[in-house]
Amino acid sequence: MLDADFFRRWMTATAASVDREADRLTALDSPIGDADHGANLQRGFTAVAATLKEEAPATPGAVLILAGRRLISTVGGASGPLYGTLLRRTGKALGDSPEVSDTDLAAALRTGVDAVATLGGAAPGDKTMLDALVPAADALRDSFEAARDAADKGALATTPLLARKGRASYLGERSIGHQDPGATSSALLIAALADTAQAASGGKDGGSGE
Ligand code: ADP
Ligand code: MG
Repeated sequence: MLDADFFRRWMTATAASVDREADRLTALDSPIGDADHGANLQRGFTAVAATLKEEAPATPGAVLILAGRRLISTVGGASGPLYGTLLRRTGKALGDSPEVSDTDLAAALRTGVDAVATLGGAAPGDKTMLDALVPAADALRDSFEAARDAADKGALATTPLLARKGRASYLGERSIGHQDPGATSSALLIAALADTAQAASGGKDGGSGE
């Protein structure tokens, strides 16, 4: 079972990963955006980590709702409301139990991802964060490692796509040939989840075979 502390560690691990990869995310946002994705998420997840250090929400749902609110209040641009919605709606779907199962999380994440699709009006194949999040949420029904792989593959597979939503869509055909920054950061979020799960199970879980 996964408790509030697990979810705090997931958010902290995401903040660390976004911090490490901020320059790469901004570089990806440079040819098909406005070169701020790394800085946007760095600001947001740094605030999330700081808030979760001060406050200790008692349930998994409350951790994600608080994190989502922080993202919405600190991140400008498209990705703040979208990531904020993802975490808030996932948290809401988890309800107020002090512990949730892997299966509960998979179902809740699916609800959060659906809310992102509704808010942004995008679907898989439009070259957005959904190209990583939708396959990850599906694969999470199998395992954390399957979700990690699905998100990574989904992010890489955005390169040949034509952007249909967000700033990149203004470029039309010229958006082809560049990996989507939001799908890339979504893969970091899911990788941080898989890392947190692996650490929680003593580092033996996952069966990645590597
Ligand atoms: P902005 O585009 O406002 O500068 P960011 O650079 O932080 O915001 O985030 C850009 C990312 O947001 C894109 O790479 C894409 O993955 C995601 N995105 C943009 N619009 C949408 C949308 N309508 N639905 C889902 N994701 C979107
Ligand atoms: Mg941008």
